[in-house]
Amino acid sequence: MNKVSRHEFFRRLAELDPHPVTELQYSSPFELLVAVLLSAQATDASVNKATPRLFAVANTPENMLALGQDGLESYIATIGLYRSKARHLLQTCRILIDRHQGQVPPSREALEALPGVGRKTANVILNIVFGEPTIAVDTHIFRLANRTGLAPGKDVEAVEQKLLKVVPAEFRQHAHHWLILHGRYVCKARRPECWNCVVNDLCDYKAKELVPPKGR
Ligand code: SF4
Repeated sequence: MNKVSRHEFFRRLAELDPHPVTELQYSSPFELLVAVLLSAQATDASVNKATPRLFAVANTPENMLALGQDGLESYIATIGLYRSKARHLLQTCRILIDRHQGQVPPSREALEALPGVGRKTANVILNIVFGEPTIAVDTHIFRLANRTGLAPGKDVEAVEQKLLKVVPAEFRQHAHHWLILHGRYVCKARRPECWNCVVNDLCDYKAKELVPPKGR
């Protein structure tokens, strides 16, 4: 995909959804950090089912710690890997209190030092909470970047670096939201809905199906 096509790719996604937002439900930076940590290898929908009850009793690091491992597990047991996520979350709360006055820190280094918080989670927090033009590459973005020719790379870090280089500056702030939503709802893993895709003339995917299957 060339420079002109990439610009047009994002221009169209931006036109469809000028103010994209995460589908995770939250009402503070701490709640977002918790939700993103819980969403690793789980769907946003499964996290959104559990967090309203959890946040009603624990929406600060202090309250979360007070739940303890068993108490916290009882709220998130429907989410994959909940035991290790509960353990990491409690360790993270301890560090937030001891080193960051109970606040979510604004630096990548401090975020990635929190248990259960990797580069992707740090990118989401830096982007949504602190307004940095980071690009958090998840499974949808990795697939889409390679399939479309937008930013091919052998692993998520390579794709992230390529995207940071090739996404036009004016679209960088929201790029990861547009790509995630496009990957989740149109450019799906098993059968991309190319017939229903606003960028199908710009995309390099060789096996595009431009006619909808019967019944669609
Ligand atoms: S044309 Fe198909 S493969 Fe390309 S971005 Fe659209 S849905 Fe994905």
